[in-house]
Amino acid sequence: MKFDHILIRFGEISTKGRNRRKFIDRLKRNIREVLIDFPNLNYQGTRDRIYILLNDESHEEIVKKLKLVFGIQSFSLAIKCESEISAIKDTALNAITSLYKPNDTFKVTTKRADKQFPLDTNALNYQIGSHVLINTDNLSVDVKNPVINLRVEVRSEATYITCFDYQGAGGLPVGSGGKGLLLLSGGIDSPVAGYLTLKRGVELEIIHFFSPPYTSDRAKQKVVDLAKELTSYGGKIKLHIVPFTTIQEKIQAQVPENYTMTSTRRMMLKIADQLREKQQALALITGESLGQVASQTLESMLAINAVTNTPILRPLITMDKLEIIEIAKEINTHDISIRPYEDCCTIFTPASPKTMPKLEKVSRFESFVDFDELISEAVDNIETILITKIQKEEMNSLF
Ligand code: ATP
Ligand code: MG
Repeated sequence: MKFDHILIRFGEISTKGRNRRKFIDRLKRNIREVLIDFPNLNYQGTRDRIYILLNDESHEEIVKKLKLVFGIQSFSLAIKCESEISAIKDTALNAITSLYKPNDTFKVTTKRADKQFPLDTNALNYQIGSHVLINTDNLSVDVKNPVINLRVEVRSEATYITCFDYQGAGGLPVGSGGKGLLLLSGGIDSPVAGYLTLKRGVELEIIHFFSPPYTSDRAKQKVVDLAKELTSYGGKIKLHIVPFTTIQEKIQAQVPENYTMTSTRRMMLKIADQLREKQQALALITGESLGQVASQTLESMLAINAVTNTPILRPLITMDKLEIIEIAKEINTHDISIRPYEDCCTIFTPASPKTMPKLEKVSRFESFVDFDELISEAVDNIETILITKIQKEEMNSLF
């Protein structure tokens, strides 16, 4: 049986009042973008549904891609047939036959928008259900908790049959909530923070601090690969690579050792904030989790955060490492993150970083160096790479 369209249901965006149009348009755009390899699809929308009309495309591939689109609550493969009882029975049977596995259970749920139709919903459920039971093996009815809910919507112009609901990714359409700048290291946490922020509808650009020759091109490649994984949810992403060596060396030379970490974070935030403004992003995003390391205690955050008033989103702030790792595995970033190449912070980590730094102290240590000039220089020399899905292969040949 060939499914001729896919019915997409929205999640939270159904309730978004005046912004509704904007959300739906964004969702449509994002869906078209993930399905760019299927140029012959047609799209139709109603107030609370999007329909994708299929031609000869393989629905398996399309289903796989739709599962990654934030803002979709659920979607179903569907078939349209004539509003006539024998056509409905045959189409329902064909649809379920092509999808069910032995020992699955099902129920029929009919909605009769066409009140002129000669059978009522109970009679329709009964007739379709028995037709399916008589003509299949290893399939039984379970009205409470079926594996397959065969939904039949009888309208006057046509009848729509769907029989399997795929769970969507939930969340809000990427881009409907503005843009944020993600501080992406090569570690496990920050890609997860990026993923969770995309899920709430925020489009991302990425900033990475790179300190050659202390950190290698392989560390940079790791970040490119992580960004590439995030494009599965967010489409194209701009990756900004900041030359950070001079600033790190200056910090090592001028700031007492146990304060170097605090200062490094402050410089990172200052640079990130300048780039954020330039790129018209509205927030910074980090992978920090409370108490995980010295720079992530409340005291540290107070001293580090003091350099900006910009909102900083920390989606992992209350999560345990194991919870973060679980998500990292689900989104395919974990194995990239555990590649051994060092990040610039790891290399310069002091033996005993201050867990309770004082803002006045760190400000005073920094006052002996003209960091502002070094920061402008770093910002002026940012290298920007546009990461698209094919970027990974292209970049492999570069390094
Ligand atoms: P991650 O696993 O994300 O590296 P982490 O637990 O190792 O996090 P830190 O190294 O203290 O923690 O970094 C805290 C946050 O600072 C990171 O989640 C990331 O957002 C940001 N960060 C750290 N290093 C870099 C870097 N080189 N470039 C960009 N952002 C960075
Ligand atoms: Mg790290």
